[in-house]
Amino acid sequence: MHAPTTDPTPHSAPAPGQPVVVRSVADIRRAGDAIRAQGRGVAFVPTMGALHEGHLTLVRDAARGGDGVIVSVFVNPTQFGPNEDFTKYPRQEARDAELAGSAGAGWIFAPDVAEVYPEGFATTVTVGGPSEGLEGAIRPGHFAGVATVVAKLLLMVRPDRVLFGQKDAQQVAVVRRMMRDLHLDDIRMEVVPTVREADGLAMSSRNAYLGPDDRVAALALSRGLAAAAAAAAAGERDARRIEAAAMAVMEGTPGVAPDYAALVDPDTFRPIETLDGPAALCVAAKVGPARLIDNTLIRPN
Ligand code: AMP
Repeated sequence: MHAPTTDPTPHSAPAPGQPVVVRSVADIRRAGDAIRAQGRGVAFVPTMGALHEGHLTLVRDAARGGDGVIVSVFVNPTQFGPNEDFTKYPRQEARDAELAGSAGAGWIFAPDVAEVYPEGFATTVTVGGPSEGLEGAIRPGHFAGVATVVAKLLLMVRPDRVLFGQKDAQQVAVVRRMMRDLHLDDIRMEVVPTVREADGLAMSSRNAYLGPDDRVAALALSRGLAAAAAAAAAGERDARRIEAAAMAVMEGTPGVAPDYAALVDPDTFRPIETLDGPAALCVAAKVGPARLIDNTLIRPN
């Protein structure tokens, strides 16, 4: 792999493995113009960096079909609560650029906080509806931070396609709602299935916080989802009982402090009572120093 370049004025597509790193809105717009001048579309993958195979799957999907791929690496301060992990969130930009480049990204957009939130910044995008329950209830302001930064990034990058991971199912619902409501619906949103470790743990940048015992305990989330999915597959329709199957696994695992197991409508994120259509089963738990989330889509048998 090659080291990333820092030429701020990309005029042509760089070779694979050599993404151009840009930091200003003006430069990322020039990158988009350069891609379009080649007759290609612009595909965009927003991330907070510390890239893993989940992120890289999004990048590979973005690159499929020949679009130019822009990956943003921006640890967004407004989506972290005051007692959350903003300052210790893993930052490894040079490695991220190499990995993203080898997966097909041509450009890394890594703005400073001041570029995204300039002096006097006073606008927030607040989404109701799907923001309200689960993560939104436990992390006040989190989805306003997410919706604000995603709206801003989409207006900066102006892509044809934007890719998100199903891993963050509620974020998908919030961003989908926001894109419809703000008429950003000429940008195609694509959702990529959750990428997992071989033993089932959903990949996450926050897995880096897990010690060896935590890493084993963390399997309670995916195992809980599997137990709940098995209950549904065996004919269970009562949402509370399906949730209880997941909760029992998490509560029965030492070192795991569950926040919730919730069966919700995948678009509105409202709780459902009876499994009679597609539903998202979402779980969240603290495991050692990390707070982890996971989900699976469930349909009636
Ligand atoms: P993050 O850097 O955590 O903000 O994630 C950036 C994007 O990658 C989001 O759209 C996530 O949903 C997605 N993502 C994170 N982990 C995974 C995973 N294990 N599988 C698929 N997508 C993921």
